[in-house]
Amino acid sequence: MNHNFLQTPIDYLKGVGPNRADLLKRELGIHTYQDLLNLYPNRYLDRTQYYKIGQLQQTNAEVQIIGKITHIKTVEQKRGKRLVATYVDDTGKMELVWFRGQKWIRENLKINTTYVVFGKVNWFNGAFSMPHPEMELLSAHEQSLRSAMQPVYPSTEKLTNSGITNRVINTLMQQLFVETKNNFAESLSQPIIDSLKLLPKPSALFNIHFPQNTDLLARAQYRLKFEELFFIQLQLLRKNMLHKSKIKGYPFREVGTYFNTFFREHLPFQLTNAQKRVVKEIRADLGSNAQMNRLLQGDVGSGKTIVAFMSMLIALDNGFQACLMAPTEILSVQHYNDLKEYCNLLNISVLLLTGSSTTLERKNIHEQLENGELNLLIGTHALLEDKVKFKNLGLAIIDEQHRFGVAQRSKLWHKNKFPPHVLVMTATPIPRTLAMSVYGDLDVSVIDELPPGRKSITTVHRYDTNRLKVFRFMKDEIAKGRQIYVVYPLIQESEALDYKDLMDGYESISRDFPAPKYQISIVHGKMKPADKDFEMDRFIRGETQIMVATTVIEVGVNVPNASVMVVESAERFGLSQLHQLRGRVGRGAEQSYCILMTSHKLSSDAKTRLQTMTRTSDGFEISEVDLKLRGPGDIMGTQQSGVLNLRIADIVKDTEILKLARSYALQTLKADPTLSAPENLVIKNTFAQLVKYKNIWNYIS
Ligand code: ADP
Ligand code: MG
Repeated sequence: MNHNFLQTPIDYLKGVGPNRADLLKRELGIHTYQDLLNLYPNRYLDRTQYYKIGQLQQTNAEVQIIGKITHIKTVEQKRGKRLVATYVDDTGKMELVWFRGQKWIRENLKINTTYVVFGKVNWFNGAFSMPHPEMELLSAHEQSLRSAMQPVYPSTEKLTNSGITNRVINTLMQQLFVETKNNFAESLSQPIIDSLKLLPKPSALFNIHFPQNTDLLARAQYRLKFEELFFIQLQLLRKNMLHKSKIKGYPFREVGTYFNTFFREHLPFQLTNAQKRVVKEIRADLGSNAQMNRLLQGDVGSGKTIVAFMSMLIALDNGFQACLMAPTEILSVQHYNDLKEYCNLLNISVLLLTGSSTTLERKNIHEQLENGELNLLIGTHALLEDKVKFKNLGLAIIDEQHRFGVAQRSKLWHKNKFPPHVLVMTATPIPRTLAMSVYGDLDVSVIDELPPGRKSITTVHRYDTNRLKVFRFMKDEIAKGRQIYVVYPLIQESEALDYKDLMDGYESISRDFPAPKYQISIVHGKMKPADKDFEMDRFIRGETQIMVATTVIEVGVNVPNASVMVVESAERFGLSQLHQLRGRVGRGAEQSYCILMTSHKLSSDAKTRLQTMTRTSDGFEISEVDLKLRGPGDIMGTQQSGVLNLRIADIVKDTEILKLARSYALQTLKADPTLSAPENLVIKNTFAQLVKYKNIWNYIS
């Protein structure tokens, strides 16, 4: 079947009139035969076959099994009781589990009587289990009607209401297979198919829509998931290779005086091994002819700034300018103050540009940038203004990447003849698998080691009812000379209420921590920038002991003497936010604490978040939990959610297949970059078709 036939408009399929065509297009985005073919079922109902417990597969399909209950027990858990029955046949045993309706079930189930159970099997802790199975005595079951194994397709209310039920989609799918005679072209190369023992394409498509048994279904799913991820990886890796071969950068061959002098004479501490490794990776990039496009991930406090600075020195050593952009004024000021000292030692001219720079300052900056007197510019979004023109920008570093859009980033690129090298730094660890999919076309460096001597931060969860104890603890810490953050949530939807909470909290703290003994700063989004900076400054200088704030302090602020982070209404914060907030303390030599305050009303997700925070401080581990709780779309933001519009693979669950797909894509491209070897032609063609008909993911940017 050639690909063009599959591009036939869906209107031509027998059984699809203009009305149905319209609905299919609007509701499910099905415009062509190909689109319908790619509408994969969400799940399957299988009432045709009986499975032995010993043959169960991890397909997520629903199955029925004949067996007997040998015993029943109630398991008490923190989250509540569940009823667990051991269910056996002659090949093995599994568990049936109920969370609700336990009393009725306990009273009505018969031990050692033959049943047919039907439901979704889960694979958990090395055993199969079936939550809330449908159950029937075998004797009753034998008299009831059974229908074939049924795919359940994605649908919408509109579709169902307009009569396009699952059964109708099913019929259309059958018609599609009749018209195409199940004669679909292979899309992967024979070596890959052989090496992974994949089902051939026609068989995979047939079994995904009309599974003959769960084994074939599992293999069909595996093959289609692999294929989907393979072509995404191929796309990303090719883009990366192409970028490297096509987009010239300025090669920074020299590692000269600035870098060497700094490294030998002024480095204030020994670099960690991870920092050394990353500096090496960046040096190699900068020294090649290609433009660097690198993402630097490193947990809060892992020491990204010094790596950024040393990279900028390489640019300077080669006669270029460099810039460092941060998402907030406070942060850019902090970077500026930190780096200015090094710059003075090295005789490097550096200036700060932010929204509050005066006209005079701006004029000065613009002039010095254009005539090349200025080596290094640090600032906020203000760097992206049209008036800011570099004489020769060689390296742009962007801190806290998630605050900037892609469009903004590319603005920096267009300031020059060649695009400058770009290093994007983020303290939001992205799960490796997600990074692989989203940033597959970027090179990624990871600082996965904290500087030595950091004490781990003691994290506890406390209920609001224990506030007095928390206040007492705060007083003890202040008596030891420490400083404290108290952070309130600020969510746009409930802004007014949140401000009230913040102000109430501030008042109550002011009452318990009276002046003049205690001095309190407050910072929130409704304040004028100048007032905010004033308050922030007082805290940084140690004039105030408590900083009451909304999440404006979330990113990057560095006050080493602050050793306690109190998060109010912690249940309302996301995991990555909590992790960021906690990263504000533990920056000095003192034992630091993070206290998560909540009410007693906690959702189960909130509980998981709090437990995760108290259990671990590993940013990557936290990001994995976050991914599981929220799903990939929410984590990456709507901007990139298109990336994750997968048809069949699941970025959270299919990480093994993802890794495999990536390694196969990499091997294939390494051995044959243009995909011209005879065995790879099929891949080349598939890829071209996917691009041409935009059936490949709408995220080709
Ligand atoms: P982040 O990665 O969060 O931006 P920073 O660059 O602000 O981290 O570094 C956090 C703190 O750790 C800074 O005070 C910095 O001077 C210090 N630091 C960075 N690298 C090292 C190191 N190798 N040894 C000791 N301290 C370090
Ligand atoms: Mg930083």
